[in-house]
Amino acid sequence: MFALGIDIGGTSIKGGIVNNKGKLFDTFKMPVTKDENQDKTVKKLIRLVKRFLKEYHYKNEDIIGVGCGVPGIIDSTNGIVTFSGNLKWHNFALKRVLEEGLGFPVKITNDANAAALAEAKYGSGSKYKSFLMVTLGTGIGSGIFVDGKLYEGNLGKGAEFGHSLLVMDGRQCACGRKGCLEAYASATALVKDTRAMMEFHKDSLLWKVSEELGSVNARVPFIAAREGDKYAIELVDMYVKYLSEGLINYFNTFRPEAVILSGGIAEEGEFLISKIRNYCQTHDYGLKMCPSVDIVKSSVGYDSGKIGAAALFFD
Ligand SMILES: [Zn+2]
Repeated sequence: MFALGIDIGGTSIKGGIVNNKGKLFDTFKMPVTKDENQDKTVKKLIRLVKRFLKEYHYKNEDIIGVGCGVPGIIDSTNGIVTFSGNLKWHNFALKRVLEEGLGFPVKITNDANAAALAEAKYGSGSKYKSFLMVTLGTGIGSGIFVDGKLYEGNLGKGAEFGHSLLVMDGRQCACGRKGCLEAYASATALVKDTRAMMEFHKDSLLWKVSEELGSVNARVPFIAAREGDKYAIELVDMYVKYLSEGLINYFNTFRPEAVILSGGIAEEGEFLISKIRNYCQTHDYGLKMCPSVDIVKSSVGYDSGKIGAAALFFD
């Protein structure tokens, strides 16, 4: 039993054939041209998928459906991309257009929800019934699993943990509000903080590491902190505090069994995760009375978007 999983991103669209055990087979990728309109991009995608299925000799009866993960505000119930800032898509009936173009049943969801579904079925989440998956990238994506089911909220528009409030009247967030967790704990925010720290401390190792990596990116403070640079350690500690305080809000609302971290920053592994664990264990309200929350790294990794989108048909 196969489904086609498609992961739509701001710079490329990736897809692949996935079986009901979460194994990925043949794949394709196409670039997304900036400022191309939504109809044109999806027409191109439909032509590519048809060619792809033919080239790899898949028959229509082999595929039970096409699952699609899209960044932004998605009405999964009606199959509509309400708004995607990265793609500049607006009120787009993606499910209908793909179904008409491809002739398969189509399901769509938010890309972070798709990744969480992959993790729940085939990865670190498989041993938990309730967890929060947080993707630490350009923004903060999140997927919520409650009692073994993906929780999307009314019309599929929930699970926007990154836009929960961390600081009243705080930093400007990309969503238009101020003080969201994303404005403090995304990779973008960490890079901004790193640049600011560098401006004040020309003697910091942050400068040398940035030079070696060719840019100031989110790995810079972690590399310099591992080497003992006090300014980098300060940055990492602040980052841990921002993210952990956000997580504790979630713990106190949902009390999940686990948090699964994914995205570029999660690749820092135990160096970062042990600090988050420590912070949460000492600051979590009701610590002594409540079960603790496991904090772990995602295990499905790079292909989770495609695998999770396909898994919409194996749920
Ligand atoms: Zn926001």
